[in-house]
Amino acid sequence: MTYNNPFAIAQSQLDEASAFLGLDPATHALLREPMREVTVTIPLRMDDGSVKIFRGFRVQYNDARGPCKGGIRWHPDETLDTVKALAAWMTWKTSVVDIPLGGSKGGVACNPKELSPTEQERLARGYIRAVWRMLGEELDIPAPDVYTNPQIMAWMMDEYSTIRGYMVPGVITGKPLQLGGSVGRDDATARGGIYTVREAAKVIDLDLDGGTMAIQGYGSVGRSLHKLAEELLNLRVVAVSDSQGGIYNPDGLSFKAVSQYKRATGSVVDAPGTETITNEDLLAADVTVLFPAALENVITDENADRVKAKIVAEMANGPTTPEADRILHDRGIFVLPDLLCNAGGVTVSYFEQVQNAYDYYWTLKTIHQRLDRKMSEAFHAVHRVAELKRVHHRLAAYLVAVERVAEAAKLRGWV
Ligand code: GLU
Repeated sequence: MTYNNPFAIAQSQLDEASAFLGLDPATHALLREPMREVTVTIPLRMDDGSVKIFRGFRVQYNDARGPCKGGIRWHPDETLDTVKALAAWMTWKTSVVDIPLGGSKGGVACNPKELSPTEQERLARGYIRAVWRMLGEELDIPAPDVYTNPQIMAWMMDEYSTIRGYMVPGVITGKPLQLGGSVGRDDATARGGIYTVREAAKVIDLDLDGGTMAIQGYGSVGRSLHKLAEELLNLRVVAVSDSQGGIYNPDGLSFKAVSQYKRATGSVVDAPGTETITNEDLLAADVTVLFPAALENVITDENADRVKAKIVAEMANGPTTPEADRILHDRGIFVLPDLLCNAGGVTVSYFEQVQNAYDYYWTLKTIHQRLDRKMSEAFHAVHRVAELKRVHHRLAAYLVAVERVAEAAKLRGWV
């Protein structure tokens, strides 16, 4: 069966894990659907005085293990189903890294590239006015995701605080440092992914030193990966792409040159000294590690047999379809699944919440050490299950995560 609805994919992944764990039908049914899903309509006053209407979503998937946690994505193709899938994945993600949170997600269907900064501010505030009753430090805590950033989090925190009548920094994470953000949150997703790649390479005896990598997506995660890969793993970045296309240079792409070029022109394509490639070419690049760091459903049954990387490190949410998963597994490619590989972002978001609650802030060194420990422990917990049950790492990660959520639901007397 071919799926392209991300929520159908998320449910099929859960079904497989539930069958493997022998979950009772009520627990399975409970975990198959979100607890709460909301669609809102947001009128936005444009700079020219006209009004445009936007659709927004917030889905609280499950809070058996703690308050809901999950980012807000601004994307033209956002739908309730994409947000439901992303909220389910957040639930399994917080569980697999064992932080005391549930899972949620939000989104607005819009093209932020067509909105001025003042329109973006009004959209951020309009979204919060529409969903604020669902949010709170002990209820549901948003964060950045695709096309949202610390400035947008600051506006959202301010709008929520204005409604409540006092400053509530803990209602949202990924804030600027001056407003209670955490050091190390900006590159936490990329850094956490790199830690899991380091651990994966150890267990398969792969020498990363001097190897190569490709990055699909040059947003906040893709850029940080480019910057950190060389520093932390001595991997040479030979290919990167964004929504306009990709670039390649076998001798390596300079972070400084490519990021400056992207800032100046809006895309990496045509950066000096590079060969232009397509996003499909990038996925098939002959590299040691491939980092999909853009959107869902990019590695499918149509291109999975062309992937040449030894490790696929899923920095995006949902980049690989279930059919492609099987193909990559059969071909002996080590897939680091999204719920594990990109959990560094939410892990440091959790650290940010803890710091906000105590109103006492940690050093960058402490953040890095604690993130490394969380990611490494989660990797090895998943890898142990993969070895023991002889399953691929996505299913192993689901087995670890779903079992913890099911146990919490049982202990609370829900099922
Ligand atoms: N949006 C990120 C994710 O998908 C981070 C979520 C968070 O920090 O709450 O994991």
